[in-house]
Amino acid sequence: MNESCLIKPLLNGRYPSVEYGQGIYLYDSDGKKYIDGSSGAVTAGIGHGVKEIAAVMKEQAEKVSFVYRSQFTNKPAEQLALKLKQWAPGNVNWSFFVNSGSEATETAMKVAIQYWQEKKRPGKTKILSRWMSYHGITIGALSMSGHVERRARFVPLLEDFPTVEPPYCYRCSFNNNFPECHLLCADQLDRAIRRIGSDHIAAFIAEPIIGASGAALVPPPGYYEQIKEICLSHDILFIADEVMTGIGRCGKKFAIDHWQAVPDIIAAGKGMSAGYAPIAATIISDEVMEPIQNGSKLIMSGHTYSANPQSAAIALAVLKYIENHGLISNAAEKGNELLQKLNQLKQNYPLIGDVRGMGMLTGVEFVANRGTKQPFSRVINVTKLIIDKSMEKGLLVYPASSGIEGTAGDAVIIAPPLTVRSEEIAELVTVFEEAVKEVQAELL
Ligand code: PLP
Repeated sequence: MNESCLIKPLLNGRYPSVEYGQGIYLYDSDGKKYIDGSSGAVTAGIGHGVKEIAAVMKEQAEKVSFVYRSQFTNKPAEQLALKLKQWAPGNVNWSFFVNSGSEATETAMKVAIQYWQEKKRPGKTKILSRWMSYHGITIGALSMSGHVERRARFVPLLEDFPTVEPPYCYRCSFNNNFPECHLLCADQLDRAIRRIGSDHIAAFIAEPIIGASGAALVPPPGYYEQIKEICLSHDILFIADEVMTGIGRCGKKFAIDHWQAVPDIIAAGKGMSAGYAPIAATIISDEVMEPIQNGSKLIMSGHTYSANPQSAAIALAVLKYIENHGLISNAAEKGNELLQKLNQLKQNYPLIGDVRGMGMLTGVEFVANRGTKQPFSRVINVTKLIIDKSMEKGLLVYPASSGIEGTAGDAVIIAPPLTVRSEEIAELVTVFEEAVKEVQAELL
């Protein structure tokens, strides 16, 4: 087969060709088996090859796969919006469907800006965010992202949005410890807003648990309560980017449910269709929708495939599958098991500096010196060494590094499907240990 015209993430990298998937396993065209230890990009929440979903795909395709959202509404999209209304906290009730996480966060940004326009405060256009965050790859979403490596080439085109230090307790920006720190990192938002002026700020966006640039950084108790209070006191919307953390991944429907802080807008994606179709959602509160409904009545955004009936039917089936199989409580329970086993590994391998996470989203950070937390030089690219070694041994894990030399360690995310069983976790950790052992032998 001539494959030369398919653009791959790393142009001269070697990629196996996948043949099929079953449960938490993927099989390549040479018959090699892989444990999907990261659900791809933390996406395949219900595992691979689920027959019920295939049946729904067929059934919907036989009815209708596409209508344009400005000409027709459709039952699957209507039902999916109702289901998300049941899932989302508080009054976050209104779904606008898009096709990727980047579109969901960028739509959230636009909705926040439009909300203030409708409220006759058009100067409120900036979206604040944190360093060590990832909200997507399009220019608007990247502007909100504090992922240095992914921003670097495009900085001249980006809005200068991220300002706040992340809640990265392992390497606290203020050399402090919880609870003595009194959540200085949250307090920074208040200072940033006062400096910039709340008349210029539409919203603050945060991943409840930082994923792609931090490897499952869980903020301390009280963090989001304080963030929400700061947002309220300055008339700023709070957007929760749940693209990676939502839909049961962190042991509750949405990760923000672990705190008492209801967002104004939620971005969801990835696990919403568990990879069976490209669909994502910007879910908006009654309070934010009200001035839009009473004002221009139209959210000024949208895509050809928005509210696509085929994708919506699949996402609806995935959410029902998660409910019917108790996968959210499984994520919480088995996530604890995984975290425990990774912590045991940490005791035996000095290469591992930190283990963290919540539910079925865990992170492992690697260090050159555990005592001083000295990270490896980026040139060594320990993240890639671990990923390659794991893959060689038949385990997929996901890279999560901030890309800032000297300020953060290399790290990977381990986040198997929410369906994972205890024996499968044991198998996953055994293979991961072999990879860590070999990489450590090369480096320390
Ligand atoms: N937001 C978060 C928190 C993410 O983790 C990602 C992707 O990793 C995105 C947004 C972007 O999603 P997508 O890759 O579907 O555009």
